[in-house]
This record gives sequence, C-alpha cells and structure tokens, in this order.
Amino acid sequence: DPAILWLRRDLRLHDHPALNAAVEQAGAGGVVPVFVVEPALWKGAGDARRGWLAHTLKDLSDTYDGRLVLRMGDPEKVVPALAREVGASSVHVSRESTPHGRRRDEAVEDALGDVPLVATGTPYAVAPGRVVKNDGTPYAVFTPFSRAWQDHGWPGAANPPKSLRWATADSHKTAQDAVDKAAKGDPLLPVGEAAASERWEDFVDEAIAAYDTDRDRPAVDGTSRMSAYLKLGVIHPRTLLSRISRLRSTGASTLRTELAWREFYADVLYHHPRSAWHDLRPALKGMTYDDPGEHVEAWKEGRTGFPFVDAGMRQLLETGWMHNRVRMVTASFLTKDLHTWWPIGARHFMDHLIDGDIASNNHGWQWVAGTGTDAAPYFRVFNPVTQGEKFDPQGDYVRRWVPELRHLEGKKAHSPWDHEAGYDEGYPERIIDHKEEREEALRRYESARG
Ligand code: FAD
Repeated sequence: DPAILWLRRDLRLHDHPALNAAVEQAGAGGVVPVFVVEPALWKGAGDARRGWLAHTLKDLSDTYDGRLVLRMGDPEKVVPALAREVGASSVHVSRESTPHGRRRDEAVEDALGDVPLVATGTPYAVAPGRVVKNDGTPYAVFTPFSRAWQDHGWPGAANPPKSLRWATADSHKTAQDAVDKAAKGDPLLPVGEAAASERWEDFVDEAIAAYDTDRDRPAVDGTSRMSAYLKLGVIHPRTLLSRISRLRSTGASTLRTELAWREFYADVLYHHPRSAWHDLRPALKGMTYDDPGEHVEAWKEGRTGFPFVDAGMRQLLETGWMHNRVRMVTASFLTKDLHTWWPIGARHFMDHLIDGDIASNNHGWQWVAGTGTDAAPYFRVFNPVTQGEKFDPQGDYVRRWVPELRHLEGKKAHSPWDHEAGYDEGYPERIIDHKEEREEALRRYESARG
C-alpha cells in the first residue's frame, strides 16, 4: 500500500529520515508526498514568509518529479481524507515540537484511527526535550545546554533511499491557486535545496574562516544565510554540522555554537510552550509599557532618526531578513527606548522575516527584553548610535539602506545631527532622546523590581 509523507518543516529530498521511513514502508505501493496549507497559519504568515514558503513548495514539487500534492484545510480532516483516498497504510512525518505542531499532530493521530502516524527525525540535530540535566530537568541556561548538546551528539546524514517510487493524488485547486498566487513575485533568496547547498558550500569555502569577526559586521556578507532554509527544512542542521565537524577554525566552532542557539530555543519552547508569547521569567511582571503609537509606527517603517536602527528596519522590509547584530539593536530600541512590550516587536518581525521562527524569534526578543533565558540584564541598554559606529565603522550598511544619508561619508552617516548637510536629503530627526529614554527605562525597571 502507498504511504503518505506529510511535509511541514522538512521540504527537501536529501538527508530526510521521514521520507526514508515512508519509502521503506510503502515498497511498491509508492509514497504520496503532501503539503497541507493550514488557513490560519497561511493567513498569519505575512506576505514575505508566505511568498518564501510558496516558492519553496514549487521548487520542491520539481524536485519530487511534479508529484507533490497540495491540499488546503484543517489537517485533522485533510490528512485522514487523503489516507482514505489513496488507501495509505501509514502517514510519515518529522516530529514537531512547537505548541501548535504538537497539538495538531495529536489531533491528526486520533483522527487517523487505524492508520499509524509515524514520526521519524525532527528539524533539529537533537530532538527538543532530549538534552536534560542529570536529574532529568531541562536546562535553563545556554552554555551548559550547549555543552551537553555537543556531548549528546547526533547521527550522520541519512543515506538517500535506494529506490524512490512516488504514488499519485491530485492537488486541490484552492491550495494550488493560493501557492501560485503567493509565489508571484521573485523569491527573496535563491530558492530550493540546490541553491541552499551551493550557498552553504561557498560560505564554507570562502567565509567561515573569518566568520568569527565578520559575523558582527552587517555591511559584510559574512554569515551563512542558512536561516530561511533551516526554517523550512530545505537543509537539515545535521547536514551543516557534519560538513564542518572536522574543521578546526574558530569560525567553525562559533557557527556550531550559533546552531546550538537554534536548538536551545526550540528546547526552551518545548518545555515552556507559553513562552512563545508570554514572558518566560516573571522577573519583569510588574513592568509598565507604553501602548504602541506613532513612535512604534516610525520604528516599523525605519524612520526613527537613528541611522543604524532605520537601516535594519528597512533591510527587513525590503529583503525579509535582518543581520543578527541589527536585530539586537532594533529590538533593544523598541523595548528600552520606546518602552514597548516585546511581543509587539516579535509580531512585526514574524510578519516580515522569511526565516521567522517562533522559537528563535520570540526567545531572541525575550533575550533582548530581559525576560528570557540568561537574558542580557535589563539595565544593559544598547546605545543605537555607538553600536552603529562600532559594528558599521565605515557607515556602508547605513548608506546601503538609507538613501537620505548617502551624501555623508564614512562614519558621518551615523550622526547626521553633527554634520552641516546632515538633513539635506530629507532624513527624519530623532524621535526620542536616547539618554533620557534610557534613564526612563531604568526607572521603570527599578520600580518593577520593587
Ligand atoms: P549565521 O550567523 O550564519 O548562523 C547560522 C545559523 O545559526 C542561523 O541560520 C540560525 O539557524 C542559527 N542562529 C544564529 N544565531 C542565532 C540566534 N541568536 N538564535 C537562534 N539561532 C541562531 N533566527 C531565526 O532563524 N529566525 C528568527 O525568526 C530569528 N529572530 C530573531 C529575533 C531577534 C530579536 C534576534 C536578536 C535574533 C533572531 N534570530 C532569528 C537569530 C539570528 O539573528 C538569525 O538566525 C541570523 O541572523 C540568521 O542569519 P544567518 O543564517 O546568516 O546566521
């Protein structure tokens, strides 16, 4: 009998344990690969993330010889209906660990009745929840987690299936139309598994040696740019980790640590599903925040009058991605300078990032806001100007994203207020006084602590 491969965050052909399990189970019956567009997730994704998913699905369909089946609706109904339609003996998935994913998969498992839902592998090198302390409790702090995660280790890449036989079912028009429509514009990054591998190999050949320093330079293309591929499982982290396992450079070991952050945040979300949208630690429970207004709009549109912040926010809107250093600075600006509760910023990022991932994004925000795991202490407030001068010393990043500052040479682009022609091209004045708002943030923090 055929087996169904229900794809979610594993949109690839290579190194795919769930696909291999489906192939083995199906034998001559063949595998029916399906992606179910869930209306609530689809609508909530924002144009950029939806577009990226749609392009990725179309590319995957080519990779799967045109056999990828698209359906739309609640998986609890759609997956069992497809199983009946094709007479499937089993449904195969990569195990999910997000709150929504776990709830959904339990419901689908029940609805499938006698047809087993078989989970093989996860979107992580080590399954979230697997790395625990000696007493069985989860890690709350990154560094010991990271050490235990490395000690735990992970299997090598899965071999490709020996013979891959697809079985057919039709895509439904509503799903196909939704995907076609979302894939109208050009993709924001080269799309698909081959493009991901190519970018990764180039990065390992040319940039990983200098990654340790270049990763903090937003004007330099010095990071792997794997995040949007990892998000949809176009490439698996184990594939990346095994590629760099024998490299001895500090760059390679720093990259391993960055990948460990992704695994850590997934682990935290697994143990604390509420932390997706609520403070993880109650430390700032008594904190007062301002309601979002004009200033938050200016932040979203990149017209705060702080060049480094505006450059980042505009890079996000234009490309669906923002450099990590600038994510930290823009998030700090929203939470500390504009006194805004972090979920408001996290929502905006999720609407525009093509790598938007609930665990990494929302815990990244909590880290900056001081409510998360081993958070930066609340009183450490980023200075948006000196951060820019330090990490974009020539001002190239600012000039790339903020045309109204292109007439200012070198680091002058970071401080138009200090230069005569600074505002000649229409760049906005600063919406706040950083020194005053920093003090205000600290006052609120002190009184929240009682
Ligand atoms: P590289 O520097 O090449 O890193 C390689 C990989 O390691 C990344 O692709 C990513 O999977 C992982 N990684 C690196 N840094 C982190 C980190 N701090 N936390 C978790 N994983 C990390 N990352 C996302 O993938 N999705 C998000 O939605 C997201 N939102 C963020 C929001 C805020 C406020 C902050 C501060 C960080 C956020 N990050 C997020 C983490 C980080 O900014 C991105 O992973 C990174 O910029 C992606 O670019 P890259 O692939 O070139 O990174």
